[in-house]
Amino acid sequence: MREAILVIDMLNDFVKEGAPLEVPDTRKIIPFIKKTIEDARKKGVPVIYVCDSHEPEDPEFKRFGWPPHAVKGTKGAEVVEELKPEEGDIIVEKKTYSGFYNTNLDEILKKLNVDTLKLTGCVTHICVLFTASDASLRGYNVIVLKDGIAGLSREDHEAGLRIMKNVIGAKIE
Ligand code: ZN
Repeated sequence: MREAILVIDMLNDFVKEGAPLEVPDTRKIIPFIKKTIEDARKKGVPVIYVCDSHEPEDPEFKRFGWPPHAVKGTKGAEVVEELKPEEGDIIVEKKTYSGFYNTNLDEILKKLNVDTLKLTGCVTHICVLFTASDASLRGYNVIVLKDGIAGLSREDHEAGLRIMKNVIGAKIE
């Protein structure tokens, strides 16, 4: 078993107070994610950031009704200071909910011989769920670190966890 840690959308536009797509609970999971990625780096476990990176007029905003966020090249699209990527970490930019959709994440994981993904980040029932789903459909073992993910409402957070556990076969740890 070779694992990698995914850090999903821990960007200023999701995490900071007053951010356009603020997910307040993300601020509570920063210490857990920080420790998780520090341990991973020490053990040589790949740390992969999966980050929204939108064009200014991205059709996703209209299609799904999101306010503009994580526009490529802006401060809002950067990973929060506390979790800044370090040398050796990998960054994958995505344009929609799944970290696998129109990205080279699958290729990167195959090159690294990774078969198990530990998921952290936000939002539980959106980007975490869709990335978990795509990972599982591609045959990866999916482990969701429940202290390292954040949702918008408790209800959606719990629904997301339930779907990942019962439908996708993810392990909730
Ligand atoms: Zn987005």
